[in-house]
Amino acid sequence: MRASQLFFPTLREVPKDAELISHQLLVRGGFVRSVAAGVYSYLPLGWRVHEKISKIVREEVNSFGGLELHMPVLVPRELLDETGRSKVPVLFGLKDKNQREFFLGFTHEEVVTDIVRNSISSWKQMPLYLYQIQTKERDEPRPRGGLIRGREFTMFDGYSFNSNEADLETIYRENYRAYGRIFKRCGLEYLAVEADPGAIGGSENHEFMVLTASGEDTVLRCTHCDYAANAERAEIVANTGAVTGTKQESKVVPTPGAHTVEEVAAFLQVSAEAVIKTIICVADGKPVAGLVRGDRELNLPKFVRVIGAKEVELADAETVRKVTNAPVGFAGPVGLQIPIYVDNELRGGAGYVVGANEADAHRINVQPITDFAVTAWGDIRTAVAGDRCVRCSEGVLEEARGIEVGHIFKLGTKYSKDMSALYQDEQGAKHPIIMGCYGLGVSRTMASAIEAHHDENGICWPITIAPYEVSIIVANGKDEAQRTYSESLYKELKAVGVDVLLDDREERIGVKFKDTDLIGIPVQVVVGKGLNEGVVELSLRRVKGEKETISAETACTTITAVVKREKAALTA
Ligand code: ATP
Ligand code: MG
Repeated sequence: MRASQLFFPTLREVPKDAELISHQLLVRGGFVRSVAAGVYSYLPLGWRVHEKISKIVREEVNSFGGLELHMPVLVPRELLDETGRSKVPVLFGLKDKNQREFFLGFTHEEVVTDIVRNSISSWKQMPLYLYQIQTKERDEPRPRGGLIRGREFTMFDGYSFNSNEADLETIYRENYRAYGRIFKRCGLEYLAVEADPGAIGGSENHEFMVLTASGEDTVLRCTHCDYAANAERAEIVANTGAVTGTKQESKVVPTPGAHTVEEVAAFLQVSAEAVIKTIICVADGKPVAGLVRGDRELNLPKFVRVIGAKEVELADAETVRKVTNAPVGFAGPVGLQIPIYVDNELRGGAGYVVGANEADAHRINVQPITDFAVTAWGDIRTAVAGDRCVRCSEGVLEEARGIEVGHIFKLGTKYSKDMSALYQDEQGAKHPIIMGCYGLGVSRTMASAIEAHHDENGICWPITIAPYEVSIIVANGKDEAQRTYSESLYKELKAVGVDVLLDDREERIGVKFKDTDLIGIPVQVVVGKGLNEGVVELSLRRVKGEKETISAETACTTITAVVKREKAALTA
C-alpha cells in the first residue's frame, strides 16, 4: 500500500475523553473513530489489525475441528425467555413494526442451542464445535477505554456439543491450548486464571488475562505453585478467627458519629480486624446477613454459592432499616431475625465489635454462636494478596492487574435442559446435550496489545497483527533516485509476500517518522542520502534508537529475513 493513497487521519492531540493509552493511540493513529459512547468505526488501519487477529483466531480454532458459522445480531425475545436471560441488564432491546420484541445479541448460547436442538438427535452427530466471529451489543453501564469495554464489540464465540463429560473435557482443553497459541501469536503474555462464571453459568471456567497495570481485574497467583484465580473467585484457606481481649459478656456501648469500620475502630481503640461488618443482602427476594471481618470485603459471587441462591444483591436502605430496626450503618447480628452467614475467618474468634442495631451504638465482646446463631459458615470474603494458597501449603497469593481477553466455560447441561436440546444415546435413551462455550474479545485483544506494547511515540505492534509489517520511508520525495529505488524495493517486497507500506507522501521526513512510529510499523526502512553510497537504514520499532545500515542492493533479502525472524519469535 502507498501511504499517499491510504486513509489514516493521525492526530497530534490526545483526545479529551481518552484515559487509557490504547484508546488514545487508536484514535491518534487513525485506527478508529468514536461514533457514540462505546461505539466505534474501524478505519482502514484498524480494520487490518482486526482482521489479522480474526485470522489467527480462525486458524487456531479450525486446527482442532472448529466450524465457522454466522448468526444474526437480532435475537427474538422468546429464545432468551427460555433460559430466563431476557432479564440480563446489559441487553439492548427493540420492537419491530408489529410490536414483536427482539434483543441485540450479547452472546449466542440460545441461538446456537436452538439450531442444534432442531438438527441433532443422536450421540453419533457429536462432538460438534461451532463458532463465529461477530459483532456483540451490550449496554455496558460504564463503557470505558475505547475498545477495551465497548457497547458494540467483536467477539469470537465458540460452542461445543457433546454426549459425554470426557469429550467435553477434551474439547475444553483443546480450546484452552488454542487460546494460549492465539495470545502468543498476537504477542501477548497471558495468564489463565480460575474465574467466576457470572451470568453465563456452568461449572469449571477460566479467564485469560493480559497482565498490565491498566487492567480492570485483579488476579491473585501463588508465589509457589501455578494456582491463579480472579480475585472475585480465589478460594481461601479456612483459618481460625482471632480472640481479641478476654471473653466477657457482650454489651452495647455508645459510638457517636462513628460510622465506618475505621471510625468505629478508632473510637473504640481496637484494630479493624476486631470489628465485624454485617452486610444485609437480599437473596432470591429474602433478606439475609453476611458477616466478614472489618478489613475484608464480602464477595457476592461466593456468597451466592454458599447460600445456594440464584441471585444475591445488596439490600436497599429501606430493607436494611426494616430488618435491623435502625438507621443504615449500624447493622449487627445480635437479635437479627434473618439467616446469618459468617465468613470462615471469624470461626472460633471472640471479642468482636458489631453494630448494635440502634443509632450511634455498637456492641462489644461479641462471640459468634454464643451471642448469635450462625446459619452457616463459609468462604464469603474476597481473597487478597498475602492470603495462603489453597492448592499448596507453601505459597501465598500475590496480586496483579489484568485485562480479561478470553473466558471459557464448561456449561454442562444448563442451556440444553432449559431449552430441551436432547440427544439419544446408544440405547435410545434421551439426555440433555453437554455443552461448553468459549469467548474471546477480538477488539479487546487489539486494544490490550497496545496496552502491553507502546512507548511515548506510539504503538509498537507485534509484527503478527501490525497493519503493515514494513514501512519504506522515502526521505526526500523530490530525489529521483530515492523515489525510483523505493518504488522497486516496494514491488520486490510485495512480490515475496511482505506486507509493506511505502511512505511516498509529500510530507517532511519528520512527519513521516512521527506517523510511522505512532501507527507502530514494526520494521522501518529509510531510503535517504546513503543511497548514493549504496545503503539504506533499517530499524525495529520495538528497539529504540538502534539503526542498522544495510546494502541497498540486497535490501529485499535482508528485510524479508528480519520479518521472518520477528514473526518466528511469536510462533506458537
Ligand atoms: P467483563 O467481565 O469484562 O464484563 P464478561 O465476563 O461479561 O466481560 P464474557 O461474556 O465472558 O465477558 O465475554 C467474552 C469475552 O468478550 C471477554 O473475555 C472479553 O474479551 C470480551 N468482552 C466482553 N465484554 C466486552 C466489552 N464490553 N467490550 C469489549 N470486549 C468485551
Ligand atoms: Mg467473563
